[in-house]
Amino acid sequence: MIEKLVLHHVLAPHAAWMGAIAAALGKTWFTFWSSLISSTISFWGFGFIFAVPALLQVEKGKIQVNRSLDCRALLGALPLVMFNFLAGNILGVAVFLAFLPDSSFDFNELPDTSTLIRHAAIWMVLQELSFFYVHKFFHENKRAYAAIHKLHHTWTAPVSWVAIYCHPVEHIVANICPVILGPVLLGSHVAAILMWTTLGLIHTTAVHSGFWICDDNGMHDEHHRKFNVNYGVSGILDVLHGTYQLPHGAVDHTNHQSVAEKKNE
Ligand SMILES: [Zn+2]
Ligand SMILES: [Zn+2]
Repeated sequence: MIEKLVLHHVLAPHAAWMGAIAAALGKTWFTFWSSLISSTISFWGFGFIFAVPALLQVEKGKIQVNRSLDCRALLGALPLVMFNFLAGNILGVAVFLAFLPDSSFDFNELPDTSTLIRHAAIWMVLQELSFFYVHKFFHENKRAYAAIHKLHHTWTAPVSWVAIYCHPVEHIVANICPVILGPVLLGSHVAAILMWTTLGLIHTTAVHSGFWICDDNGMHDEHHRKFNVNYGVSGILDVLHGTYQLPHGAVDHTNHQSVAEKKNE
């Protein structure tokens, strides 16, 4: 629904000038710059907004109430975060240029609503399946956990930007691939892909914020706290695998009480 609204009410009126820029820059540089600018706004811009409460040591609205941000640890994490950010951009752009058809870059032919809804649904299903099982493997295989995924879990109480504080192999396999898999398989339009990756980056910085501004009811924060729960994005596969667990203070949508209230009964 968000994709549809954004594409038809925000993007469509701008298709003409975006198409003109694409024609002026050429496919390669248009893809590079549009990816870099949109990801900078979503990851560093929204990431900053979501990091402000932690940077200001705000207590209200924290998911893990007894934890606060170690600013020196965050500074130490930023070089790897920057490396992954740039590497992810370059890899994503290279894959799109190599595998997307020319029609993906044609701004005279934006996808219609039904195509967009179908593509968005498939992107989400493929992302959920690939991210969940790759992530679960990284936890269950002791060697893979120690060599690769443990780095991301050094942050037991995360802050927005550490969403991509991880081994570069993990960033490619677990973060980049699940997001670009659907668009590449379907040959989606680059404008729709930009919306998808932008929303994905805003989502991942929000769920790593450490505050209830996250849009997953604290699910991924609880994964950082407990390690062996909530491997997925939406929670559907976690429910099926018996690994779904919300943190203290989350809203239990089955009866609209908070998890804390339910435990107190
Ligand atoms: Zn995480
Ligand atoms: Zn994990």
